[in-house]
Amino acid sequence: MSRNSSIKCDVTNCKYNLESEHYCSLESIKVGTHEANPTVPECTDCQSFECKSSCCG
Ligand code: SF4
Repeated sequence: MSRNSSIKCDVTNCKYNLESEHYCSLESIKVGTHEANPTVPECTDCQSFECKSSCCG
């Protein structure tokens, strides 16, 4: 996995996260929302997230 300098990320449970560098390793990601009317950052989601097998069983 190599760092994508354009995508900072702190989601260390994601298998694409470079924990020590706080970056994503994917070439691109998809961001979406789980809300009908998103108004704050918490309304958005990285839909490219995949759980590390070591974290999520
Ligand atoms: S896929 Fe999304 S959640 Fe996972 S490291 Fe990349 S930006 Fe973070």
